[in-house]
Amino acid sequence: MELNNNPLASAPIKDYEFEELMRCPFKYYKRHVKGEKSNSLHWRQMVQYAVNHVINDIYSLPVEARSQARIYEIIHTRWKINMRLFESKAHYNQILAHVTTALLDHFSADFAKEPPLFLFETFSTWIEELQTELSMIFQVVEWSEQTFVIKKILVDEDSDVITVFKHMAILFSHKAFARLPSRIEIFSVLSGKTTIIEPKGTEDITQAIDYLWLTQQLLPTNPYRKTNSLLECNTCPFNAECHFTEVKQLARAL
Ligand code: SF4
Repeated sequence: MELNNNPLASAPIKDYEFEELMRCPFKYYKRHVKGEKSNSLHWRQMVQYAVNHVINDIYSLPVEARSQARIYEIIHTRWKINMRLFESKAHYNQILAHVTTALLDHFSADFAKEPPLFLFETFSTWIEELQTELSMIFQVVEWSEQTFVIKKILVDEDSDVITVFKHMAILFSHKAFARLPSRIEIFSVLSGKTTIIEPKGTEDITQAIDYLWLTQQLLPTNPYRKTNSLLECNTCPFNAECHFTEVKQLARAL
């Protein structure tokens, strides 16, 4: 793969673009370097869209109005995803069942909490060391005088996406809020697992700067291959021309 143009090298860092790059560098290359637009939506994008609405609706409810029945109703209302985006009807039903169970379990543990300070807010801050702006959408931030907790809910558990989010959240917090979160919680609705990261201090900030600089400068200009989020391959619009045969075989076997 010849990558002779790097659109990230001097551009502002946007969290959703970096997540896309981490999920599949080849797909990112086709879309953002070659400019090949695909109109087809992926089921994961649509599930994330529905999940975002569900999170927003649940956290916007008064604490006393939250219940399993209300959450179930919200999921039912917000789930407007065309079945044809999925591999099959069975796949559609499987994903819907996973998402419903995971969200019900997850939010049942959160019933008693006060509304978060930030709910789907976009912020930008200048990063001197990278000579660029870092822009992030914060789904949920719980804030108190002593500390704050950043929460993110993802569809699938992709370790590369989790790593890049961790570094962006740490660096952003340091620059924009002049403090680090006590916890970053990343919950995956498909696995039902929560990854908890507890930043400690200067070393985390240095690592975040190094990681983001390397990602921004080097990743889009090097040959690399996808290793996570394999399910995405089966319904990828670039599947036919993608040369990562082994990855696609693994995905088909899932
Ligand atoms: S088929 Fe898989 S590896 Fe190939 S571009 Fe699509 S998502 Fe990426």
